Amino acid sequence: MIEKNQVYYLRSSDEKISELGECGGALTTLMKFLLETKIVDGVLSVKKSNDIYDAVPILTCDANKIGETAGSLHCGTLNIAKILVKYFDEFPEMKLAITVKPCEAETLLELSMRDKINLDNILMIGVNCGGTFPPVPTINMIENIFEVNADDIINEEIDKGKFIVESEDGSLKGINIDQLEEEISCENNIYGRRSNCRRCEMNIPTSADLGFGNWGVLGEYTGGYSCVEVFSERGAEILDKSIKSGFLLVEEPSKEAVEIRQKVDISMVNLAKNWQNRDFDVNKNDILSILTIYDDEFKKCIKCFGCRNACPICYCQECTLEDSAPEWVDKGKIPPSPLFHLERLIHMVESCTNCGQCEDVCPMDIPLAKIWHQINLRINELKYSPGMDKKELVLFDYFKRPE
Ligand code: FAD
Ligand code: SF4
Ligand code: SF4
Repeated sequence: MIEKNQVYYLRSSDEKISELGECGGALTTLMKFLLETKIVDGVLSVKKSNDIYDAVPILTCDANKIGETAGSLHCGTLNIAKILVKYFDEFPEMKLAITVKPCEAETLLELSMRDKINLDNILMIGVNCGGTFPPVPTINMIENIFEVNADDIINEEIDKGKFIVESEDGSLKGINIDQLEEEISCENNIYGRRSNCRRCEMNIPTSADLGFGNWGVLGEYTGGYSCVEVFSERGAEILDKSIKSGFLLVEEPSKEAVEIRQKVDISMVNLAKNWQNRDFDVNKNDILSILTIYDDEFKKCIKCFGCRNACPICYCQECTLEDSAPEWVDKGKIPPSPLFHLERLIHMVESCTNCGQCEDVCPMDIPLAKIWHQINLRINELKYSPGMDKKELVLFDYFKRPE
């Protein structure tokens, strides 16, 4: 009997999916089970498009197509919640199972708090995440460091802290990610994980129903199994049914394996805190003074709306930044920069999950994720319930001028 808060080793009983999957294909097979038994109407996940740098979302209701989604795409930097919320109004009753990285699971939770989606209809099948790699710098890295044509790469994987690629002729090249980020990156060539991922402390998707990963998979199980944590009762229920129906094979991990999984997670959290300390002053607690530091960055803004359009939390049907039409709203005019960003801050920063979509799309290279993350860390400390807490007013505190 599968139970909440327990950890299991799982693999697919389907040899073909097991081969296609990253760590035994249990996740893909669970999706197949959910479709075949009509527990869900559709599966929303990610598949490789033209090449390994091109991860695209796929919504399928066909269990026979599920093999297309197997495997981990480490250059898949998308936040699938954005796609879901866009179409949710059209199909509000559709029951979906969605593969989610931790930041995607958190975003879905925030969207449900804002009544934008109904989590009763959504099963969140989580994957652990140590970070995603931006496609273009990664292509440059493969060509400059590995001296391989990036178009010839047919596969990539992360194994024991190494980023490894496989060429068409079967040859392998790999590099330690720490070395890549610490020693080889320079001002002009920043290689490795996206900067928001380096600072991310959420490596295990605890907001999801289940969390699949390879941390803690030891010995004979390595490569062929995932270590899966159960976070909810319904997560336990679907796993139990899929095992009893013969879709998944289960083994009990040793105590040592579970401890190692925890230790890796702790070391990744510490690494993320180190990156936060390197990237900003974690003790700076006045939000306006944080914004002031980035005044010159905000001044570069051309108000292309890229960050707003990419943000999975931005939720207004009609955006006041376009509609209330003060002079600076006219397209082509550069706005008085703080207003645009202050309004975005008020709308989304409380729910910002550091997913990095805004920074990824900004044509002016404004370090948006870094700025919002810094502010978000301060807001986490200011949790405030109106009429309940005898604390300084939160909004008042936000906009207090720096002394
Ligand atoms: P599969 O059957 O291969 O299914 C994989 C699922 O992941 C599919 O549904 C696929 O659509 C989805 N997927 C692939 N790429 C993405 C993407 N970019 N974004 C969202 N969904 C995607 N485990 C760890 O323990 N430590 C890690 O540091 C770690 N980092 C990861 C980073 C990424 C970007 C991903 C996608 C996974 C990571 N994992 C990590 C999880 C691990 O690689 C396996 O996905 C997990 O063990 C499940 O294996 P499986 O064979 O059952 O999955
Ligand atoms: Fe993974 Fe965190 Fe980056 Fe999201 S922000 S892709 S969860 S490391
Ligand atoms: Fe300004 Fe960059 Fe946002 Fe465009 S994406 S509106 S340039 S901050």
